[in-house]
Amino acid sequence: MVNLKDFTYEQLEDFLAQQGEKPYRAGQIYSWLHRGVESFEEMTDISKDLREKLKKISTLGGLKLSDKLISNDGTVKILWELYEGETIESVVMSYKHGNSVCISTQVGCRMGCKFCASTIGGKIRDLSAGEILDQVIFAGKVTGKKISNIVLMGIGEPLDNYDNVITFLKNVGNPKGINIGYRHISLSTCGVVPGIYKLAEENFPITLSISLHSAENETRNEIMPINRAYDINELITACKHYISKTGRRISFEYAMIEGVNDTPIVAEKLARLLKGMLCHINLIPINSVKESTLKRSSEKSIYVFQENLKRKGLTVTVRRELGSDISASCGQLRRKNQKSEKQ
Ligand code: SAH
Repeated sequence: MVNLKDFTYEQLEDFLAQQGEKPYRAGQIYSWLHRGVESFEEMTDISKDLREKLKKISTLGGLKLSDKLISNDGTVKILWELYEGETIESVVMSYKHGNSVCISTQVGCRMGCKFCASTIGGKIRDLSAGEILDQVIFAGKVTGKKISNIVLMGIGEPLDNYDNVITFLKNVGNPKGINIGYRHISLSTCGVVPGIYKLAEENFPITLSISLHSAENETRNEIMPINRAYDINELITACKHYISKTGRRISFEYAMIEGVNDTPIVAEKLARLLKGMLCHINLIPINSVKESTLKRSSEKSIYVFQENLKRKGLTVTVRRELGSDISASCGQLRRKNQKSEKQ
């Protein structure tokens, strides 16, 4: 059975044409799908015959709510169960400018970053385009909040699931559907360089975030194995290409880890590396993960690091922490759930 949400709009038209249906049916069905209907019966402007026919050959996707945690600051963490019983996470954060959902792109991750809980059990499988989209649709439904921003920063590496992520992007920004503006979407990568070149050709005015976390290859090799395939120079070259091709500012994520990447010497190196680039640096006080010995930098070293970068003329902010009381960082809720099932 095909999941209708895995199709682009054009693919849905073709699929319906194969069933002998008129193209305008695609518009009606697409709109129902993006409103999150949970049964074909809800598609009230579609004939009963067509609904019966579609029911036999396709599904509407959908996600089962497995757990929902609400933080003191209003952040909502959602654990979804997929059709085979695997789980993924989404997080809804409320800001002054609107509600943002952080979504997963894979079940697990194979990138192996040392500080990240999502990668501990490896990658189980890619999410389909429809499963990625459903997190946006149903996060809105289960929280009752209108989602205006999306960050692809949940479990998984988006550029390691390239085709499905691109189909998702085509659908989520389609004016015929949920229609979230590309300028309100960020995609975060650990540095899958070929994916960055491909993405530069796609013409989505999204924000690209790069999880840099170090300005030195030796350190980055240690904490982020992807660096052994594509080192810092190759990554920065790809970023410069992306900026010149798209005209978009890149956001560099930098998780502050005590004694690993937080010294003034490293700040100096980072400033040299990013000098003159159209970019923004986002310092993230690292969330400690039980399975890892890496510790968060002190507030003082984060402050000094930030000031050093600012003095060199870089734009740098420190990420405000949300949802720390509900394990809102990547993969922690899924890990907890897996462990409690094993006990
Ligand atoms: N694979 C993608 C997207 C998912 S990770 C990527 O690497 O960018 C989303 C962000 O959370 C990345 O910047 C990642 O490095 C960061 N992250 C992962 N574990 C973290 C932790 N324990 N504390 C702080 N940030 C973390």
